Amino acid sequence: MTTYKADVLIIGGGSIGLNCAYYLLKAGRKVTIVDSKEIAQGSSAGNAGHIVPSHIIPLAAPGIVPTAIQWLLDPKNSPFGMKVSLDPKYVLWLLQFTLACSESNVQRAIPPLNSLGQLSARNFSQLIAEEKFNCHYQQTGLLFLYNTASAFEDGKREADLMQKYGIPTEVLNKSALHDREPAARDEVLGGVHFTGDSHLNPALFLKLLGERVRAMGAEVFENTPVTGFDVADGTIRAVKTSAGNFEANEIVLAAGAWTPAVARDLRLNIPVQSARGYSLTMSATQVMPRHALLLGERRVAVSPMGDLLRFTGRLELSNTDTTVNAKHIAGIERAVREYIEVDEKLNVHETWAGLRPTTPDGMPIIGRSPRYRNLILATGHAMLGLSLGAGTGQVVAELVNGKETAFDLNPLRVERF
Ligand SMILES: Cc1cc2nc3c(=O)[nH]c(=O)nc-3n(C[C@H](O)[C@H](O)[C@H](O)COP(=O)(O)OP(=O)(O)OC[C@H]3O[C@@H](n4cnc5c(N)ncnc54)[C@H](O)[C@@H]3O)c2cc1C
Repeated sequence: MTTYKADVLIIGGGSIGLNCAYYLLKAGRKVTIVDSKEIAQGSSAGNAGHIVPSHIIPLAAPGIVPTAIQWLLDPKNSPFGMKVSLDPKYVLWLLQFTLACSESNVQRAIPPLNSLGQLSARNFSQLIAEEKFNCHYQQTGLLFLYNTASAFEDGKREADLMQKYGIPTEVLNKSALHDREPAARDEVLGGVHFTGDSHLNPALFLKLLGERVRAMGAEVFENTPVTGFDVADGTIRAVKTSAGNFEANEIVLAAGAWTPAVARDLRLNIPVQSARGYSLTMSATQVMPRHALLLGERRVAVSPMGDLLRFTGRLELSNTDTTVNAKHIAGIERAVREYIEVDEKLNVHETWAGLRPTTPDGMPIIGRSPRYRNLILATGHAMLGLSLGAGTGQVVAELVNGKETAFDLNPLRVERF
């Protein structure tokens, strides 16, 4: 059995793992990454590519459970689905999520989500400029479109709340909206523009970041699944993989939706459930949207990426495989046609499914493990794992180096569960 020595070992080379690698290398550490598949793919490569510091309201918020039940009654058009299972961990997660859908959870989550979102957005623009990444990064904001007066009113209320936290927003009436986004169909009666948001092609960004961390000296072991751990005296002595054992000074666990499965030997309570979503990517259409869009009532994202256009949607709780369901891809396309002008026949290049690592209170888990002195958890970023990646990378590097973190990480510690 081969034994490898590592300074910082990162488990998982998705958005979070690669950002951790980048900021650790910049902070002078040596980095080794192990991934069960290829790095820079994970659940981000086919995602919407939205970098959204405006998203400070957690998924677990008042009203979401009744809305989800209503959606389930319309399976053809629903943006939401869930597995029926009596797995105790899943049932407990559902209970915790339901209890967390409160105003007090929203108030608790906003400060850390806001701090992490702002830090990440700043880091993204600096990283992309410094490294000269050509990944269709567009700082044109995120535009919500609404087709019904009631959803538009809800959107305006959220915009009011976000403005109080310093998020730049512009509410657009019908004519202002159509001036700003000519791709919108006549049915769209208003919108909210979060002008501090941005978007990029996530597959290109991660590919470039993967190449960059290799060039900076990271050792990368692909197709090397972690299979278990040797632990003693509150320390992880070895991480077992298909290629041999890794002994590391520090270990960062960033395995996204697979984190609880990877950590099963460690006897830690990491309440992460997967939430599957889909995307379809096509050649540019005749009328390309000028902005990244979110289609309010349908919860579908639209992302122009140079000569490509991507539609993304659906959240299916606790589905762990990445099989693409053609019925839901068709549902996403149908939803988009309600809001924007789209060619009758689309030249689709790729359909894709990915797993969002979702916690019951809608906040990620970032911090040192309470049980093992050389383990840091960086997971549970749900629908924001690209957006919050660059900030997570920085604070994980600060934790590893024993530095004061850029903001208070206590609300994100796993002990809160
Ligand atoms: C449809 C959809 C749209 C989305 N849109 C956006 C968006 O616009 N903006 C945004 O911010 N987020 C978005 N997300 C969410 C985002 O993609 C996730 O939050 C993000 O991918 C999580 O990153 P991660 O690094 O934690 O996990 P992943 O990207 O899944 O990476 C985890 C890595 O761990 C590896 N791994 C698994 N098991 C093992 C093992 N045993 N040993 C070693 N390695 C292992 C995996 O191979 C993988 O590479 C979207 C998600 C979906 C599904």
